Amino acid sequence: MERNELIELKGIVKRFDDETILKSLDLSIKDGEFVTLLGPSGCGKTTTLRIIAGFETPDEGEVLFAGKNINKVPPNKRNINTVFQRYALFPHLNVKDNIAFGLKLRKTPQSEIDRKVEEMLELVNLKGFGSRSTASLSGGQQQRVAIARAIVNEPKVLLLDEPLGALDLKLRKEMQIELKKLHERLDMTFLYVTHDQEEALTMSDTVVVMNHGEILQKGTPIDIYNEPANAFVADFIGESNIIPGIMKQDKIIEFLGTVYDCVDTGFDKNENVDVVIRPEDIVLLEEGEASIQQPANLLKGRVLSCLFKGVHYEISVDALGYKWIIHSTQSEEVGAIIGMNVTPMDIHIMHKSEVK
Ligand code: ATP
Repeated sequence: MERNELIELKGIVKRFDDETILKSLDLSIKDGEFVTLLGPSGCGKTTTLRIIAGFETPDEGEVLFAGKNINKVPPNKRNINTVFQRYALFPHLNVKDNIAFGLKLRKTPQSEIDRKVEEMLELVNLKGFGSRSTASLSGGQQQRVAIARAIVNEPKVLLLDEPLGALDLKLRKEMQIELKKLHERLDMTFLYVTHDQEEALTMSDTVVVMNHGEILQKGTPIDIYNEPANAFVADFIGESNIIPGIMKQDKIIEFLGTVYDCVDTGFDKNENVDVVIRPEDIVLLEEGEASIQQPANLLKGRVLSCLFKGVHYEISVDALGYKWIIHSTQSEEVGAIIGMNVTPMDIHIMHKSEVK
């Protein structure tokens, strides 16, 4: 089914104390989509969310909801709820009454409240927890209550501002899967904010990478990972080797004083570019192995360090005066001279970005 745009931001500018925090932001989010705003601390993610929720007013630009301008609509009249990093549950109310709070305000009949609360408890895996005090719950359970409370009145959009940020790593991973399942079961639009790239890639239909109040790239997790728009996105999404280079002509790149084959085209002749090579795309070679690895770009270097990282070794290698990071399942002796193989496909050429 073709989905329509539900939320559209058009030319949103937001200033605080003469500082421009959002610089003419354009973003559209489809009905039912799971979109994540990803970027470093202070880049304007929360401000974007708060403008959509109605807690902040943009200085310029329009917020549209289903095609209608909602700039002047107060938060409680927008069909949008928010879950914050801190659970913000009512401490004097038990789990059931926390979830039922909004329904009671709307004078929903008690029988309907009871039915909906039970449904929510089941949905967030807290069946049987209704009469527990919120103080007796773990952080993860409290956050589930906060999510249940935010979705019980069936908003069209759920905004989630680093909702898993206060949880430990294992629980965060579990909750990521639960949230994704929850999104699949509810016909609701999720707009999620995080600075954790893995979280963004795991859960979202669409990732929006931001820096300094601007959107650098919007795409599926696979697109963002495989085809980052510039060196900032490449580096933010996964640790990368980023080297200045010169695009000599189509499919020919020079960096660190050497010319290599690549597959990219469409750059200006002799354009200054960034060359991005992912640590997992560099293959380490035993002596004499080079000839069977063609087509390849071969480099030789000296191992500076080798650290075990749980699933792979992170090896630092000095080659052509650059300190390379390589991920490999084989370990290497510090000081050893090794061969490195990069296929032309794995040399990613990026236009130099203004934003770094
Ligand atoms: P984080 O991940 O740290 O929450 P963020 O990307 O969500 O970061 P924002 O919270 O949107 O970033 O903040 C962007 C910038 O705007 C920051 O420099 C912040 O200090 C500033 N800012 C946010 N709200 C206000 C405010 N009410 N008054 C003044 N400055 C503000």
